[in-house]
Amino acid sequence: MTVTPNVREYAAGLPTDALPAYVYDLGALRVHAAAVRAALPAGVELYYAAKANPEAAVLEALRDAVDGYEVSSAGELAHVRQVAPGAPLAFGGPGKTPAEIAAAVEAGVHRWHLESVQELYQLAAALGNEQQVDVMLRVNVPVAEGSLESVALAMGGRPSPFGLDPSDVARALELLAGPIGQQLRLRGIHAHLGSGLSAAEHLAVAEQIVNWSAALAAKHGLRFDEVNIGGGMAVDYAEPAARFDWVEFGVGLAKLLDRRPELRLRIEPGRALTAYCGFYTTEVLDVKTSQGEPFAVVRGGTHHLRTPATKGHDQPFVVVPVQEWSHPWPRPSATGQISLTGQLCTPKDLLAQGIPVAEVRAGDRIVFAMAGAYAWNISHHDFLMHPHPNFLFI
Ligand SMILES: *Cc1c(COP(=O)(O)O)cnc(C)c1O
Repeated sequence: MTVTPNVREYAAGLPTDALPAYVYDLGALRVHAAAVRAALPAGVELYYAAKANPEAAVLEALRDAVDGYEVSSAGELAHVRQVAPGAPLAFGGPGKTPAEIAAAVEAGVHRWHLESVQELYQLAAALGNEQQVDVMLRVNVPVAEGSLESVALAMGGRPSPFGLDPSDVARALELLAGPIGQQLRLRGIHAHLGSGLSAAEHLAVAEQIVNWSAALAAKHGLRFDEVNIGGGMAVDYAEPAARFDWVEFGVGLAKLLDRRPELRLRIEPGRALTAYCGFYTTEVLDVKTSQGEPFAVVRGGTHHLRTPATKGHDQPFVVVPVQEWSHPWPRPSATGQISLTGQLCTPKDLLAQGIPVAEVRAGDRIVFAMAGAYAWNISHHDFLMHPHPNFLFI
């Protein structure tokens, strides 16, 4: 299934004292990213949203497939700059501090994604009089009702702290038509409206963003040469084999560009690029049955892999059986619909609930798949002061 044979074999051979470990299949990541790139037509730029997984080896493995990286803090900016020197960066995110703005000016980012009218003033004030930068206005672009119905997380299409409200855009354009526009060159509109969109849904949203931005430009007598349609390509944790249809998406974007050949589209996926390359690998410490329901307690838990707790899903996993049992006491085991929990003293430390298994025994390995995005880096590592996992790359 979702656990590559390489990873399965590697996990089976890991000694107990190497666990838990995040195992990254960088070869699989390179193949996946190259396939995504190949599916996109000319005229579409691919940026990786670093916040999904900023692990240096992951950023490096993506370097050949991506045009640049999207960063959302001075920390990400400095980190990505160091790991991928020279790669174009887009700098976005709400609540940019003066220090962050200064750092991004200094770094010379390729595109600024400005999220409010105040940010236009702030950026202009941070620039020297002769200095020019390229900006996109992030807008909570209005989309038809139902366009974002299926999304797991909505950043737009409703009241939101992200981007400019459409009613503020005229004010921003007015400023850009004045002296501030000497420093801030407006390249187009950016919209990242939701996470969890299928290819067809994303294309429908993209078309609305492109049309809205063209109408805006026409109304104000401007020419936008770029539109950034964001990330949010779906990853289905309940169906690990189902993947976002990049081929369908690429064909749809090509059609969109056929009608507007002057336009450059940019996308900035995070999750759908890296989710599949990470495997949180651990061992079963104990197995017990409580009021008729079996539980396996694993080494580690949601303080390392918070994704299932935060998204409310069962993290997909496989059991890798280990034959040796060197203890003199009976080996704890269970069959049937088991829940996998961690070492934290909270009922929220639940990795998967009621999943049918042939057998789980203390000492068996568990490999959790789809742990390559919003996994370790969103987890509350130090709660309960257990050791951090290992990070291994194959
Ligand atoms: C988080 C984020 C992304 C990436 O979203 P995914 O759901 O991981 O694809 C892209 N753009 C912006 C502005 C973001 O905040």
